[in-house]
Amino acid sequence: AEMFGQLTTGLETAWNKLRGVDVLTKENIAEPMRDIRRALLEADVSLPVVRRFVQSVSDQAVGSGLIRGVRPDQQLVKIVHDELVKLMGGEVSELVFAKPGPTVMLLAGLQGVGKTTVCAKLAFYLKKLGKSCMMVAADVYRPAAIDQLNILGEKVGVPVYAEGTDVKPSEIAKHGLQEAKKKSIDVVIVDTAGRLQIDKSMMDELKEVKKALNPTEVLLVVDAMTGQEAAALVTAFNIEIGITGAILTKLDGDSRGGAALSVKEVSGKPIKLVGRGERMEDLEPFYPDRMAGRVLG
Ligand code: GDP
Repeated sequence: AEMFGQLTTGLETAWNKLRGVDVLTKENIAEPMRDIRRALLEADVSLPVVRRFVQSVSDQAVGSGLIRGVRPDQQLVKIVHDELVKLMGGEVSELVFAKPGPTVMLLAGLQGVGKTTVCAKLAFYLKKLGKSCMMVAADVYRPAAIDQLNILGEKVGVPVYAEGTDVKPSEIAKHGLQEAKKKSIDVVIVDTAGRLQIDKSMMDELKEVKKALNPTEVLLVVDAMTGQEAAALVTAFNIEIGITGAILTKLDGDSRGGAALSVKEVSGKPIKLVGRGERMEDLEPFYPDRMAGRVLG
């Protein structure tokens, strides 16, 4: 299924009810607004976000009056589009680079969300922007994670710094950064250990790694398939360790859209990048306007 497919169809129900009306009124938008509300909830957008969204769209719709050459249903589509863009943060949120380098980008996230894959994709993405990169394997709980990073590093032509599983992650990270400085590497990307759920030892470890590195970017990798839960995770990690943004993975799956639509509003932190596939090329900036365009079909 196409991502947002169900949401797009749900919203179409709303516009269709406004065919033939002369002007948007409180009365004639009532039912379409209920359709919009239902479509967003079914897409797994969190309730407070849906409430604010619907309120803002209704206020604008009722106040919008007649616009020459624009049908009222199209007028509502435009209002929803602009409000969706705003909801997702408006502008693209660019990655920040430290001057002088190296820039440290710390990746965090629960197990299985695609963190290790993102690590390599990000290195590949930055390499294409002309930056030299190094990846640091600070996930010491799964030896397989280090192997996986080595294989991916080879695939994208980016060196991997690893010290096995017997050294503390914060120490590995520190040594990796020293190595990167020696080699005048532009960006150091640090892969950390995930857990199945948030727990104190993971958060403590991340805090320690963060303290050792003073990273410019702390990016939480979240899985789009988890809907509004992704937004809740971004909030929790931000409160606990302080993050600069999120990377949303698995947008190529049949996620309903709740994560893309909720993260910024719920957590205050932007989605900076999205992963939409298993190939190394499948990572790109998060464009709120393009995303809104896709939602509206
Ligand atoms: P980690 O435990 O967070 O490090 O997760 P991995 O990087 O090992 O990824 C878990 C699985 O998700 C792997 O099978 C990846 O190939 C897959 N994966 C990661 N990102 C994406 C994505 O954007 N789309 C799809 N379809 N699969 C992905």
